Amino acid sequence: MEKRQAGQFAIEQSATPVPAAEREAMVANPGFGKYLTDHMATIRYSAEKGWHDARIGPRENLSLNPSTMVLHYAGEIFEGMKTYRHPDGGAALFRPDANARRFNNSAARLAMAQIPEELFVESVRELARIDQAWIPSEGDGSLYMRPFMIGTEVAIGNHPSDSFLYAVIASPVGSYFKGGVSGVSVWVSEDFTRAAPGGTGAAKCGGNYAAALAAQAEAAKQGCEQVVFLDAVERRWIEELAGMNVFFVFEDGTLQTPPLTGTILPGVTRDSLIQLARDKGMTVHETPYAIDEWRRDIASGKLVEVFACGTAAVVAPISQIKGQGFDLKIGDGGMAPVTADLRKSLTDIQFGRADDPHGWVDRIS
Ligand SMILES: *Cc1c(COP(=O)(O)O)cnc(C)c1O
Repeated sequence: MEKRQAGQFAIEQSATPVPAAEREAMVANPGFGKYLTDHMATIRYSAEKGWHDARIGPRENLSLNPSTMVLHYAGEIFEGMKTYRHPDGGAALFRPDANARRFNNSAARLAMAQIPEELFVESVRELARIDQAWIPSEGDGSLYMRPFMIGTEVAIGNHPSDSFLYAVIASPVGSYFKGGVSGVSVWVSEDFTRAAPGGTGAAKCGGNYAAALAAQAEAAKQGCEQVVFLDAVERRWIEELAGMNVFFVFEDGTLQTPPLTGTILPGVTRDSLIQLARDKGMTVHETPYAIDEWRRDIASGKLVEVFACGTAAVVAPISQIKGQGFDLKIGDGGMAPVTADLRKSLTDIQFGRADDPHGWVDRIS
């Protein structure tokens, strides 16, 4: 087993990697999140020692005392980003510094330890490097990177954990939605909300996802693929999907997306698309949009495109919106022109096919 040191990380190659032929078959047809790579990054935190034992090693199971705090009080946060294969055979991350900042904002909200941004970014870079052979080079494929952190204090009492495990795993992925880039149907939930003012809506924590599953199940029962949440106070303003932000495109060419008021997750994709749209001279309003406006503007033809966005699915058109007493179609179910143009501009930068005017691309090889 090869062992070496890279910066703060002790690196140990797996002695039992997946055989090359098997790995190549997985990477050629990865699905989404089905396979994990050979290695993982781990870093420990304790109140006495601070961050220590930074390591890239063989991926292995975690062993936890049954009273470990995360198992009872959901002290867990995570991130999601991708490593993209570039035309010259190298690879790059996309804005990992933005994920590092957001990770620490999530940590602050859940009373968890702050990790130095550089240590976070290095952990993702080193894992992507050691598992480079797992980065797909066909189509929209990429290597999905999943940093996460859990409270590991062994205690049944409920207080901020005094120790944490930070880890990164990676999974080769293809298209997020089975239908590729055809339109997604959404169900407007009246029974459930995702986040309230003062709550954890802006933190990327597993608890938010657990709390959205009943709404997601309701959407599925209604024949929809995703749920769209309204604000918790007036039950009128569109917020986002369970794991994606949402944009509206009007016939006059302007774009609108709900503002970041603390109940919406500040997506890196959302932020990048706002910038790219403005670069193209488009007007983007970060202002609230109501469900009654949504219904009215579809009927009048003022609203011409709607799309969801996030790292996993990139940009996905929304072609049907359904709720209590209404069922409306938008467009022809495919990728409309503004949605397609923004998706192409973003993915061209991520995959190294276009210039990177904002310094978003982070080469790892
Ligand atoms: C992760 C996430 C998004 C998308 O964020 P990106 O940084 O664009 O991947 C949107 N909404 C929620 C609730 C999320 O957890």
